[in-house]
Amino acid sequence: MRKTALPAWFGDSRIQASADIVIVGNGIAGLTAAIEARRFAPDATILVLTEQCYPTIHTPALRQVLSGKVGRSQLLAYPEGTEQARGIKVGVARVEVIDAVEQRLLLARGGVVHYGVLLLATGSVARGLPKDLPGAALDGVLTLHRLPDYLDVRRRLREVRDVAVIGGGVHGAETVMSLLHLGKRVHWFIRGAYCLPRLLNRAAAELVLRHVEQAGALVHLESEVIGFLGSVGELAGVATADGRIIPAQLALICTGTRPALDLAARSTLPLVYEEEQGILVDERLCTSVPAILAAGDVAAWRHPLSSSYRSQPSWHAAVLQGRVAAATMTGQMMAPVSGVVGAPWQATRLGSLSILAVGDPLAEEAEVKVLTRHGKQSYHRLALAGDRLIGYLALGRAQPDALAIKRLIDEALPVAAIQDALLRGDFDARAYFARLRSSKLYTLTAPGRLAERTLATSRCAPSLSPPLGTTAAVAGWQEPPQGGEPFLQGSVSRRRPQTEPLRRLIPAQHGTNATNAAGSGSLADPDSWAGRPEHELWPRRLALPASLSQPNPHPLRCCQ
Ligand SMILES: Cc1cc2nc3c(=O)[nH]c(=O)nc-3n(C[C@H](O)[C@H](O)[C@H](O)COP(=O)(O)OP(=O)(O)OC[C@H]3O[C@@H](n4cnc5c(N)ncnc54)[C@H](O)[C@@H]3O)c2cc1C
Repeated sequence: MRKTALPAWFGDSRIQASADIVIVGNGIAGLTAAIEARRFAPDATILVLTEQCYPTIHTPALRQVLSGKVGRSQLLAYPEGTEQARGIKVGVARVEVIDAVEQRLLLARGGVVHYGVLLLATGSVARGLPKDLPGAALDGVLTLHRLPDYLDVRRRLREVRDVAVIGGGVHGAETVMSLLHLGKRVHWFIRGAYCLPRLLNRAAAELVLRHVEQAGALVHLESEVIGFLGSVGELAGVATADGRIIPAQLALICTGTRPALDLAARSTLPLVYEEEQGILVDERLCTSVPAILAAGDVAAWRHPLSSSYRSQPSWHAAVLQGRVAAATMTGQMMAPVSGVVGAPWQATRLGSLSILAVGDPLAEEAEVKVLTRHGKQSYHRLALAGDRLIGYLALGRAQPDALAIKRLIDEALPVAAIQDALLRGDFDARAYFARLRSSKLYTLTAPGRLAERTLATSRCAPSLSPPLGTTAAVAGWQEPPQGGEPFLQGSVSRRRPQTEPLRRLIPAQHGTNATNAAGSGSLADPDSWAGRPEHELWPRRLALPASLSQPNPHPLRCCQ
């Protein structure tokens, strides 16, 4: 019989390890941070600890697992063996406690891991339903969040005719469409008066509902699920508050996510966080505790327009935060996270209907001008501040170029000349940006030039790669020929500073509702970190972690 080597972590319940950089979580934020950190610091020891017993996967593709459209290997975010090839150790273990004083982690099975710098990339958890909901423990009531959930559902689908999908957001809508595609009878339970309320207004949502109903779904609006009925331990039906019982053999809970804060709550020094938003971080993703950063779905940074702390739970934002975290951990210079990530955006496709929301399309402040266009099978909405786009919503058959529209918002580019095309949904991004490059509209304002020059002349700026398809003020800088205007190479573009009138659109909300009582002091406000002594600020000031240039006192004994 062929002997297969077991991974080094396998069966080792007493992990004793140390690394210059320790990352908790192998979601896309954690793995991106590890890969980028390796690029910046070739000699650093990097260890990723995760309770997930499979490699990093492309979560947006998970819904394809239901329909069997993607094989498991196609789900991988990076080719198999990427971590090993880059000298990144991976240990499968749940981290229970952060001993921030001793800079070490206590693992669930008893091990201890020392860190030079720690990145929390613990992502999000499914909200699920209240645990005490009658019948929630019946076989067939499942929460859809991670890969094993999807594999479980796929196995069960063969024996199921009626499926209940609970949750009126994008996740619920996508799940409904996947199940319809498989020929199931699908009941969609939505608590509110319309679907996708975080993304759409009523007019747009009605288009989606019509589309989903035409595809065959039975939509139950304003339906509160109050329990599940079973037959000898198996799900038989869903009970609603208005007294109906809908037969179903499978109930899939798609009620959204919240940041995974269990570990943050068990730190010996208080990590400041907000229950609904995540761990509060500054522009470099540093938390309130020295040598600890947070990135991805679990991190919340101050939104430049509103001053409130918000997480941006999306794949794209998690990748970009991973890059910022890597730069900070290795003492590199990078643009602040709010600038790197920019406006939030969400895109999905429900059968033939594309949905794209960028920025804040539902903004309703007095200064915001709203333009809408409603077709039989399309809906477009622009939110404008002067001639700048601050939000865009598009539903229809055509799939707009999401990143091009995001760029219009991030760079506060004038859109008066293209607003009709945006409204019709036939904006030609390629032509627009080509024209822009060659026009005077692209001239930089003086403060913008200065800021970019400072970044570009830092020792590490040339090695930075631009974030996925978006803007990167620090990359590709070239000195102007013979004193002319500076310019950037290739598709890398420059960011114009947001104009003051735009800033004033959303009233500032000072202070936070940090729920970590121990953190209610000045550490709750990253702005106040500026006055703290050097040793407390590290690595906030981007100092190279001392452990990177010193012998490692705790040689790795696991995960070799
Ligand atoms: C089903 C689904 C569909 C999605 N679709 C889209 C989409 O279409 N577009 C889009 O932009 N975004 C989508 N998202 C969101 C996007 O995938 C996430 O925003 C992104 O993957 C977050 O990455 P992350 O690294 O922050 O966290 P996660 O991917 O949640 O990873 C966190 C990791 O930390 C580990 N962990 C947590 N606590 C501990 C601990 N104490 N000890 C050890 N390990 C721990 C977890 O096991 C996990 O591996 C979707 C998400 C889901 C779940």
